[in-house]
This record gives sequence, C-alpha cells and structure tokens, in this order.
Amino acid sequence: MGTVNWHDRASAEQLPNKLFIDGKFVDALDGGGFEKYSPIDGRPQGEVASGQAADIDLAVAAARRAFSDGRWSGLDPAGRKAHLLRFADEIDAAAERLALAETLDVGKPIGDTLAVDAPGTAGTIRWYAETIDKTYDEIAPAPAERLALITREPLGVVGAVVPWNYPSMIASWKIGPALAAGNTFVLKPAEQSPHSALVLAEAAERAGLPDGVFNVVTGFGETAGQALGRHPGVEKIAFTGSTRVGRLFQRYAAESNGKQVAVEAGGKSPQLVLESAGDLQRIAETVAWGIYYNVGQTCNAGSRLVVHDSLADELVTRISEFASKTFVPGDPLDANTRFGAIADEHQLATVVGYIEQGRRTARLVTGGERVRTESGGYYVQPTIFADVANDSAIAQEEIFGPVLTVTTFATEDEGVALANDTRYGLAASVWTTDLAAAHRVSRQLRAGTVWVNTFDESSVITPFGGFKETGLGRDKSLHAIDAYTALKTTWINWE
Ligand code: NAD
Repeated sequence: MGTVNWHDRASAEQLPNKLFIDGKFVDALDGGGFEKYSPIDGRPQGEVASGQAADIDLAVAAARRAFSDGRWSGLDPAGRKAHLLRFADEIDAAAERLALAETLDVGKPIGDTLAVDAPGTAGTIRWYAETIDKTYDEIAPAPAERLALITREPLGVVGAVVPWNYPSMIASWKIGPALAAGNTFVLKPAEQSPHSALVLAEAAERAGLPDGVFNVVTGFGETAGQALGRHPGVEKIAFTGSTRVGRLFQRYAAESNGKQVAVEAGGKSPQLVLESAGDLQRIAETVAWGIYYNVGQTCNAGSRLVVHDSLADELVTRISEFASKTFVPGDPLDANTRFGAIADEHQLATVVGYIEQGRRTARLVTGGERVRTESGGYYVQPTIFADVANDSAIAQEEIFGPVLTVTTFATEDEGVALANDTRYGLAASVWTTDLAAAHRVSRQLRAGTVWVNTFDESSVITPFGGFKETGLGRDKSLHAIDAYTALKTTWINWE
C-alpha cells in the first residue's frame, strides 16, 4: 500500500458511471447525468447517470421477473450460497478499485477504505452467504395427523436507499441478508457516493449473479429515491440515512402500497464518564476515536461527552492534546492520512454553521477552523466545545462532523439522565471501574448498542440499530434475516 501512488491510480482509473439494470450497464432512459464533485479538491469527477422514475420502473420490473421465475429464490441453498460467495470474492478482487471509488466519492482516507470499507463489504456478503445452508425452518407442536410447518419466505423485491458515510458497507448490510433470503434487490446509493455502488454492480456481474437479482440506480433522493419508495412493485424499503428522510419513506409507503419500511437513522451518542472511571489517557484516546473517526460522519459517533465534574478538565485537556496530534486533516489519497475530508459542500456548510453556533453558546476548547482551503476541498479541524448546555442545538442536533460537546454532572443519576436526554438512541458508552455501576448504568442507557469501557466495537455478528427516533429495525447479525423474510404457516392434514 505504501508504494502505490493513489493520485496516479485515481487519474488512471475509469470508474463506472451508468445504471446497472437486469445484468447490464445502461444509460438513464432520458440520457441524463449529474456532475459529481470530489470533496478532496472540489473538482468535477465526471458525470454519473441520473436515474429517474422510469429507470426505477425498469429496475423494479427486472427484479420482479428475477423473483417471480425463481431464478434466485428457487435455487438450492448451496447454489445461492455459491453465487454469493463468488460475489464476495469478486468484491475482494476489486478491493482497491472499491476503496479508491469510496475515497474519491466521499473523501475518506484511502488507508481506511482499504482496511475497513472494502473488506467489511465483502466480509458481510460472505457471512450472509454462509447462513444460507445453515438456517432451518420449524415444525410446530400439532395434533396427531396434522403437520404445522413454519417456513421463512423471501418478501420479493427489496429496495435499499443508503447514505454516503459508509456507502458500500451499509449497502452490504442490506444486500447480504436480503439476497441470502432469496429476495431480489434494487440499490439507490446517495448522490454523493454513486461509484462504489457501481463497483459492487461490476462485482455482481463478474460473479455471474442471475440478471435482475441485483440492480443499481444512481440518482437523487427526491427523484430516484422517492420513485423507489412509492413503487407499488416493491415489498420492502431498507433505508439508512437521516431521520427526516426516514419519515418520508414511511409516508411514501403509506401513500403507495403499504410496503414495509426499515429505518436506520441519526444519532447523538453519549460517552458517559462516571466518577469511578479508570485510566483517563485510555479514555481520552477512545473518546477521541469515537468522535473523530471518519471526520465524525458516523451515525453512532460519540459526539456528546457527558463527564463527571471532577474529571472534566483533565479529560478534556487529554482529548484535545491527543486529537490535535492524531487527527490532522490531510490528503485522503495519501496512505498516511487518518483524517480526511467532509463529504460535500453542503455538509461542510452544516458543520461550519454548527461551529458558529457553538462559538456563541459554549466555550471553544480546540479546533473550530476550516483548513486546507488551498486544496479546494472540504476540511475542518477536530473541534471540542466545553460548558455545553444539554438543551442547546449543538448538544441535541446531529452535526455529523468532527465536533465533540462536553457537558458535566455531579451524580450518577444526573449523568444517566443527561446521556438519555436526546431524541436519538443509536449507541452510548459508559466508563467506570465499578462493576455494579457498569451493569446498573448500561441497563439504564436507552440505546441500541451500549459499550462499557470501550467504544465502537462492532461486527456483523451483532445487531445494529437504534431506539427512539433513530429508527426501527436492525441491520447485521442473524436477526437481520427476519427483516427480509415473512413467516408462512402451512397446515397439512393426512387423516
Ligand atoms: P439523507 O437522509 O439525506 O440521505 C440518505 C439517502 O436518502 C440518500 O440515498 C438520499 O439520496 C436519499 N434521499 C434524500 N432525500 C430523499 C427524498 N426526499 N426522498 C427519497 N430519498 C431521499 O442522509 P445522508 O446525509 O446521506 O446520511 C447521513 C445520515 O445518515 C445521518 O443522519 C446519519 O446518522 C444517518 N446514518 C444512520 C446509520 C444507522 O445505521 N443508523 C448509518 C449511517 C448513517
């Protein structure tokens, strides 16, 4: 990796830019495209096909044919598994291309996309492939001469609408269980991150997935996304993105065919440091990684430090020192960079706007500046605000950038109440050396994932999703298969 010149690779690599429908790369029906700009330097990256409602119709029709004729759901488990394993292998074979696409699209460091996003995507598909021939149905206790079978059936056509922050990995959390269960699939990636989705389509094509099983329609949310959400031929929408747009998908479903909608939305995760917390340097470093990895553009980013009065000053000083030497904004195409760009100009303006609010309502401890402006790209320093009131906008609203707020408390009950005082419930952490407090507080925290003396541990083997307005449904783990199947009961009478 150290020897690759990623700027040269970026100039040489021709990334796919057409829709992938029914096994073929095609232009949008109206021939339209949109210009994609790189967050690395603000320059145009070239046009990408802009899918409209008519293109969604074609993709859904292809997925419907592929579902109805059994070319996918009718395969033997071993056959479907072999296809998905080949798909995962082809993603691995294209790992550098996928990583580069993701870095160019959203400005993540190439070291991260190579180490995390590309292998995470292939690994998720492979994990779900392996479930196919290991998942059993049920037989219910029934009267003599009756048999009651409970089987899992695929839903049909699944549409997935995903965000730009971990584009291919989040897509794989939907693709893996949906295809493993026998559904067919239409993916609408975010307009900021179309290329990595199309690199996945190339892998699907090379793996020989039957035509129509996996389709990708690039384009904007209000056009392509809405058309998928309202399509009467779609049985389920698997959505990850903002809470606002998640609600739109619930409305689209209600106003069309009442399709199922799973929503994985925003977060404002607390990192709760009790008076009994242990090694402050270790906590400082973990808290910093918890907010600053991916420039804070992580749904479960630990963006609120809720810390006992007695530890606040020392902990914040340590976080600030560690962050300013570890998370130095740099060129995402340099393999040594750990802290890349904000994904687009709109998101940059949002982050800068919240920093301005923070300057007025709290105390800026570190960061707060836009930097590397000479590059033309979108870079902001790791930022900390102390003396933050928990009801202020910077403590309540999802900034989705490298901004940590610090709020203090005197008693454990106050700390827990502050941690839970948010409309979101994706994740939370608690730091303590007191075993009883660890159990007590982790039960009280209202979040889909709670970390004790750690942050951001994750794996495909455990469910991921949130309480409260973060959403409904869970990605990852065997439980995700429930989200892409319906139970069927079959009574057989042989009296
Ligand atoms: P977003 O809601 O703006 O966009 C997400 C997707 O929805 C994109 O594909 C977009 O094109 C589409 N979309 C936008 N407007 C639409 C509309 N009117 N109709 C139909 N589709 C539309 O979110 P984003 O800015 O891409 O992503 C950031 C958000 O995602 C944050 O809130 C973050 O917390 C959340 N997120 C949640 C999780 C999770 O697992 N809970 C994971 C990652 C990101």
